[in-house]
Amino acid sequence: MRQVLIVIPEALLNVTFDQPISRTPYWLSGGNPLANYPWRDQPEATLPKLAEVVVIGAGFTGGALAYHWAKAGSLDKQMVVLEMDDPANGASGRNGGEVVMGRYFALVLGTVTNGLTKLRPDLSEDERVQLAKSFAIVYCRSAYKNAELIERTIRDEGFDCDYVREGWVQARDIDEQKQLEKSVNAGRENGFADWAKLSADEAAEKTGANIKNPTNFSKGAAQFQPAKWVWSLFQSALKSPQVKLYCRTKVLSIRDVGDVYEINTTRGLIRSKYVVNATEAYTPKLHKQFHNVILPKQTQLSAGTDDGQSLKPNITFSTNTGFMGRHRTHIYFGSDETRIPDQQIGRNQPSRFVTKFLIGELRRFYGCFPLRVTHEWSGTVGFTDDEYPIVGVMDEKRQYIIAGMSGSGTAISFNAARWTCNRILNIVEREDDYPDEFFSPMRLLDPKNHRWPSIKEK
Ligand SMILES: Cc1cc2nc3c(=O)[nH]c(=O)nc-3n(C[C@H](O)[C@H](O)[C@H](O)COP(=O)(O)OP(=O)(O)OC[C@H]3O[C@@H](n4cnc5c(N)ncnc54)[C@H](O)[C@@H]3O)c2cc1C
Repeated sequence: MRQVLIVIPEALLNVTFDQPISRTPYWLSGGNPLANYPWRDQPEATLPKLAEVVVIGAGFTGGALAYHWAKAGSLDKQMVVLEMDDPANGASGRNGGEVVMGRYFALVLGTVTNGLTKLRPDLSEDERVQLAKSFAIVYCRSAYKNAELIERTIRDEGFDCDYVREGWVQARDIDEQKQLEKSVNAGRENGFADWAKLSADEAAEKTGANIKNPTNFSKGAAQFQPAKWVWSLFQSALKSPQVKLYCRTKVLSIRDVGDVYEINTTRGLIRSKYVVNATEAYTPKLHKQFHNVILPKQTQLSAGTDDGQSLKPNITFSTNTGFMGRHRTHIYFGSDETRIPDQQIGRNQPSRFVTKFLIGELRRFYGCFPLRVTHEWSGTVGFTDDEYPIVGVMDEKRQYIIAGMSGSGTAISFNAARWTCNRILNIVEREDDYPDEFFSPMRLLDPKNHRWPSIKEK
């Protein structure tokens, strides 16, 4: 009640909302260089009848698959990416642009321990914690590697996607200080030292916010223009003849007919040996067995101008209820994780109440600077029950999926796409970043028959 009657009305002093406000995600407001690809320039183009791999979806994951295939694939093996909209129009062009180091160790440990209550009722509480610990170790290892791979790729390829790496500050209230220390220690003891602590003064210096308590800090987190990242991946991949992209082509169904899959689309049928679903939150719409397995949750963001008077550039700042950052002249702020029905996945229907609530959060840390809200949009994030992603084969044959990234798509998509391409191409790696016993979708689809990792002695 205090929020509704006092905090929000006070926060709205000195705030204007554009009339009408733009529903186009801020990252997409400058236009999409791959809109309607390839039909815009080649109206006569047609879908191929056959491909080695069909990828469904052209966001972070589909873009990364295309990129890695172009690097590793051979000329006789073609990858075809099908996108029902335009590249980066899903969650990948609607997010907070934070390149995360992954969910921190203690967080993964907690969510997986909870998830195991349902998935492994045969285990004791102690055994579940032990098992969850090995899940957290495997996740963090691959996520750290993923973050380094993204940075290296942007640098080596010269991608123009506004990448800066100066960390992420997470404010903590006074009663959360014990938990803060505990989570930092848990990460450090297990070899994941990215998750650190900052004094209130250090955090205030980095963010420009009025901070009274020590905060958490992810040292290796970065920011980028997420849609530009997706477009850069495709622009690089499309130089290679073994990658093709077809936008505004919706996959209606996938049928396993033995040695190939038949992919039925709004532009006709393609046959392929492999399929990779890069559809994240949209997956349950295409594959009904993922209903209640990948949980679609709406998250939203707003953007506006502040005459440079609030957030500092290059660093993400979050509170318990929201996350925020700056990109050039605009600041953006977002929140929410509301489960929505499968039919509404992908909708753009932000709540003005959430925007106003977040302006209250901004005021709490940055005071009453003038704010003109220009954009407000929403997207759908794919969560799993244990908030642990799925990467692997979903039908015990040749159909792959990368999904359930639970709001941290930048932590998984790039490395998981690399891993998937290598699996398909039979390229054996020294280290397995996504071992089946941890990441296979069977963990959630069929937990009784899933081959779980053994529980390590304490
Ligand atoms: C508001 C918001 C803020 C977020 N902030 C962050 C953040 O700061 N950092 C972070 O790491 N993550 C963040 N996320 C999560 C992140 O955006 C996602 O994890 C990531 O974008 C998933 O990428 P993707 O390529 O797998 O899925 P998507 O980008 O959703 O791509 C899936 C694509 O599949 C296409 N598709 C679906 N069905 C079909 C079909 N039948 N036929 C053809 N095409 C189809 C869709 O059109 C879509 O383009 C945020 C998400 C939201 C919504």
